Amino acid sequence: MNLRHVTSINDLDNDEIEQVFALADRYLDKLKDADHPHRIGTSMDIADGSILASLFYEPSTRTRLSFEAAMIRLGGKAIGSADPATSSAAKGESLADTVRVASNYADVLVIRHPRDGAAKLAAEYADVPIINGGDGAHEHPTQTLCDLFTLRRENKQLKNLNVAVSGDLKGSRTIHSFVYALARFGANIMLMPAKGMELPPHVDWRLRNEYRCRAVPKERYDNAAMDALYVTAKQPHQLSLMAPPDFERTVKLKKGVDVVYVTRFQKERWTEQGQDYPKVDANFLKAAKYRKTSVLHPLPRVGELDASLDHDRRAVYFRQAAYGVPIRMALISLLLDLDKRNGWKKFERGFVESTHVLFDQPIDAGIECINSNCIVHDKLEHDYARSRFHLIEAEPPRLRCFYCERDIDSFIIANRKTRHYETNASARNFPNQKRAKDFVLFADAREAEKAGYTPRMSNRKTAAR
Ligand SMILES: [Zn+2]
Repeated sequence: MNLRHVTSINDLDNDEIEQVFALADRYLDKLKDADHPHRIGTSMDIADGSILASLFYEPSTRTRLSFEAAMIRLGGKAIGSADPATSSAAKGESLADTVRVASNYADVLVIRHPRDGAAKLAAEYADVPIINGGDGAHEHPTQTLCDLFTLRRENKQLKNLNVAVSGDLKGSRTIHSFVYALARFGANIMLMPAKGMELPPHVDWRLRNEYRCRAVPKERYDNAAMDALYVTAKQPHQLSLMAPPDFERTVKLKKGVDVVYVTRFQKERWTEQGQDYPKVDANFLKAAKYRKTSVLHPLPRVGELDASLDHDRRAVYFRQAAYGVPIRMALISLLLDLDKRNGWKKFERGFVESTHVLFDQPIDAGIECINSNCIVHDKLEHDYARSRFHLIEAEPPRLRCFYCERDIDSFIIANRKTRHYETNASARNFPNQKRAKDFVLFADAREAEKAGYTPRMSNRKTAAR
């Protein structure tokens, strides 16, 4: 069974993202509303007979309407459970079962869920394409496609673009997908978080280690509101040649801020009472560096973006929302091969095969994901979501949760045949995929010993010395 899922922006390569944009451009040209050229105004029939089902376990109006509108504009139909949280899940049905059942009713499923990694779990059990409509604080890939498409339509070349992201960088899934994509397309990322809402360490680690970003030292830029600045290396091979870091490129940052991306103040996440949440208004944008800025916001807003900006030429957030429809039309079209000229490569498991070794732990044994909001910790999914980790071959090695992609940087590996564990593992001596099943991972030596494992002989000798 060959298909394709989109649970993360990183499930698509840059060429595939460009394909989404090219097709969205085409749909917009062909079907635009005569009075509002950024809006789809008529429909086509290439999806005639196809059905999109939306399974939303969390309230959402815009994302859901925009997916359903996209399917209907393509000529298909949209169905959805008004609120699975009060229907199937309330009756104790797992997401794994719900998607297997819903696969019988629809050709593509859109999942929105409060747990990180829920879309990946759904993808494991569905035999139709899964699109992640937002999972916990993990990712929101279609919002990112829409954001990048907006910048492109605003004539902003992503390469070397100076993008400031402001507000809740910790809990905003939109931001996590967005910064990965910016780094992949060579943009510079300026972080302007609310206090206590800084970018999570695992996202920072990936930007630096997997997306060729360099964090610029604070003394190299003059902006009190900025918490950190990342520049992206031009070529992968520059990594080893880059000491001292790209100074000539930090100088270029003086040309100004091209984009300010504002995120919503989420009251429920706000732990530090009385702190100021960054607000973007006419006063904020007065500085010369914001003269040519585009202001984006995934909406809804709740006060962090002043309504007085709505008629400012720099405000593009309503166009950004309108582009959600052509972008989602293009994505559905490519996943379902509706446009024969542009189909994507499909895979047996729905994803490009990972290059990382996957450790598939037995249920209730060994190390667990450290993210308490991960789907593996959802009681309803207990029998369906095992603790699975990709080995990230850094030094020291890291484990990345298969579902929520949170990293663990300290752990123990034990051999199930010899019943010994390693105390100082290096990525170089880890087993390959074939042998991975002979190993089990623990949080620390105490956990390994509790499970009946002993240190490997050479380690014991070292310890005795
Ligand atoms: Zn996890």
